[in-house]
Amino acid sequence: MNMMKTISKNDMKESNRMSILKTVRKGVCSRAEISAALGLSKPAVSALVDELIREGLVYETGRGDSTEAGGKRPILLDFQADAALIVAVSFNNKRYEVALTNLVGKVMFYVKKKIIIAEDYRQTLDLIVQDIRQLIQEAGEQGFKQPVISCGIAIRGLVDTKNGIMRYSAAIPWTDAPIGDYMKECLGIPIFIENDARAGTYAELLHSNGEYKDALVCVSVGLGIGTGVVIHNEVYRGAFDGAVNFAHSTIAHDGPLCSCGNRGCWDALASITALGEELTRRDSKYASLDFEAILGLYHDGDPVVADVLLNHTGYWLGVGIANILNVFNPEQLIIQGEITNAGQELERKIIEIVQKRALSAVSKGVKIGFSQDSDKLQVRGAAAVISKHFFSDTYHRIIWK
Ligand SMILES: [Zn+2]
Repeated sequence: MNMMKTISKNDMKESNRMSILKTVRKGVCSRAEISAALGLSKPAVSALVDELIREGLVYETGRGDSTEAGGKRPILLDFQADAALIVAVSFNNKRYEVALTNLVGKVMFYVKKKIIIAEDYRQTLDLIVQDIRQLIQEAGEQGFKQPVISCGIAIRGLVDTKNGIMRYSAAIPWTDAPIGDYMKECLGIPIFIENDARAGTYAELLHSNGEYKDALVCVSVGLGIGTGVVIHNEVYRGAFDGAVNFAHSTIAHDGPLCSCGNRGCWDALASITALGEELTRRDSKYASLDFEAILGLYHDGDPVVADVLLNHTGYWLGVGIANILNVFNPEQLIIQGEITNAGQELERKIIEIVQKRALSAVSKGVKIGFSQDSDKLQVRGAAAVISKHFFSDTYHRIIWK
């Protein structure tokens, strides 16, 4: 009985501490404002704020204006986003990226390399771990002495986030690979893995600071296509962690062969890989060009590239997005990833097709457009997953001991 009482008191304290941390993170405020916002006594708030200051998560940032009643000007508090470092990793079948970020996903150190997909996932991960260690060492040499607290990994494919397992990827030949456990063994910190499109969606949520009230859809277009759906500020995961996967929906029943074995998947029509394949079908001189080179030709006025980019990729992206709007009726749909480097003409083309094809009741009010910031999206997504966990009651103490 006594034991239960103690636990519940601790839980309460922990829950209040988290509420204060979240409040300070939303914006600079005073102890009195926290006390009023959370309905906690001033002494309780002061004691917990002092604890957060000692831990380095909150700092005093000067004095605010005095209240109408007069008196001393209150000391203002702010969240110390640089109190710790997060390791953020992303990989697909072509390359991997590693970054060190602060607690709100700001990239501070970064490296991107070609990946070697070995049959044994551990061999590939060993190379990534080397780069992580290298970046941590560099950070240390440059005076960053903060603790490295957790690692987020964004992966192309189906993942079991709870158990840290990569289930299946059409592009990478590993099945049921326990990536979380292996990386934890290597790095000695908590590891969280996530599907890369959902990670990109977390990055968008972190960036918007909870601006979306109803539904948001993120469509990430790179070598493959990924989709993430946010409903009432929560990323929708589905019953078995597989939602939302539009990439392998059949869009054209007799379309090109997809890496999954099917025909006419959205991924096989509208991804950057599909763009390269369509260009090669038109003329073999476009074979083996990467997207940067293709965009170079587009900006130089190559008519074939412009036609394929707008009337093939743009068209099929529009068709797929119209389907998504009909299903989710979001208030906003953000297109992210490398494709956004193609610029406004493609963005306009996609919107034009969507407006023609989606039901007007769902397409009328929706904001559709390229993300404001697709730079290093995948690693920012991996970091956003850790940042979200850092501020959650469930995971905070696993990450921040
Ligand atoms: Zn497919």
